Amino acid sequence: MRNLVFSNNDYLIKDGCFYFFLRWKDFPLSAFFSSRELDFRQEKNYEYLCQKLGIERKDLILPEQRHSFHIEVIDFNWKKKKFVADALITQKPNIALAVLTADCFPVFLYEPIKKVIGIVHAGWRGTKAEILKKTIIKMQECFSINPGDLEIAFGPGIRECCYEVKDDLREYFFRHIQEREGKLFLNLKSANFEQLQSSGTKRENIIDSEFCSLCQNRDFFSFRKEGENSGRTVSVIMLRNK
Ligand SMILES: [Zn+2]
Repeated sequence: MRNLVFSNNDYLIKDGCFYFFLRWKDFPLSAFFSSRELDFRQEKNYEYLCQKLGIERKDLILPEQRHSFHIEVIDFNWKKKKFVADALITQKPNIALAVLTADCFPVFLYEPIKKVIGIVHAGWRGTKAEILKKTIIKMQECFSINPGDLEIAFGPGIRECCYEVKDDLREYFFRHIQEREGKLFLNLKSANFEQLQSSGTKRENIIDSEFCSLCQNRDFFSFRKEGENSGRTVSVIMLRNK
């Protein structure tokens, strides 16, 4: 495991994970994503993670992800064992919300006034289904948050430098597709930025790790690069009791 390292960007690296963000360090919050030192297809890494977070395994909530727009609200009576969702929200402290990715984007959400957190798994299907926008609407409905108060962070994902797509995505994502040497490249982050903008969030509250999972494959897993056998990056957000 790497030792504690302060990088040039707004995070620190510790125990195989990139901790978001120095800007968030004073909040009663843990928010981070793993590096490829830890493959979260392996159960033993969850045990390690829970130990680091100081929680029991049952308090780490990991949905079955299906590129859907289903959002699960983890309230105080929540007890499901298995469920399908691509976004999770809660107001409950000491419950870790997690998603797995390998090229798709993990998006972290934190509203510091009502103290609500969320995490979203956004690949092209989820982005097309507007999962990020729908998650913010759900946070408004369930917890009366004001989107202008939301802090948002993007973890590692495949970027427009590497994300070659076929012509069938051109029509829907036309504002976010660039043509280079006869090939089409999708900028998923800008498509998600657009959803944030139309949801009433503030640009200055958005931070981006700027990692590309494919060209920075030395540090992160990439399904595009490694195929079926690619490992998985975990992204986690958890409120702490102060
Ligand atoms: Zn790249």
